[in-house]
Amino acid sequence: MTEKTAPGDEGHSIENALRSENGVLTVGGARAVVMTEAAYVFLMKVLYEHAPHTIKYAFYDMGYRVGEQLMASLQKEDEDPERGFRLLVETYRQSGYGDLEVTYFDLGEPQARLSGTELFEVAVAREASVYRTPRCVCHYSRGMFAGFMSRLLRREVICEEVACQYRGEERCEFVVLSLQWSEDAVPPPAGEAGAPGQQ
Ligand SMILES: [Zn+2]
Repeated sequence: MTEKTAPGDEGHSIENALRSENGVLTVGGARAVVMTEAAYVFLMKVLYEHAPHTIKYAFYDMGYRVGEQLMASLQKEDEDPERGFRLLVETYRQSGYGDLEVTYFDLGEPQARLSGTELFEVAVAREASVYRTPRCVCHYSRGMFAGFMSRLLRREVICEEVACQYRGEERCEFVVLSLQWSEDAVPPPAGEAGAPGQQ
């Protein structure tokens, strides 16, 4: 595997965290299973057939919970939050979710920006053919990034995908933002105000 390491952590490799013994695969101590893209396509189709309106919320929520739990289990008390965030994004990349990089990080604002290509959700969306119009489709990923940051801040933040390869853009682009709106901010359109997972 060719490694592109996170800044400040040359040598971080998921291969070092992988163990397979007696039919049990673990990554950093947590049990894992290998799920093929084809299986994920079926999951998407089945969910679409039974509850199409839940897709973006269900995958966002799933990603959010996983992201929060991952950060909680891996983040050491005295570790630099940005380093922890970048390490998990690097783990995401090495796990095959897509080629992703952190392009901006400020815990104070708070805001983080991520940019990527070849995200698995774009490939799954193309294969599953459940969307009839161009749109951002990487809900599991944006949920996960919100979960990472929420855990670091100990309060909920949201992640929006502002560009997506599925709708023909060059890269998938994500922004992690605070849920709070300032007094002067232009309110979001009715029905979209602040609800986690909506876009
Ligand atoms: Zn995308």
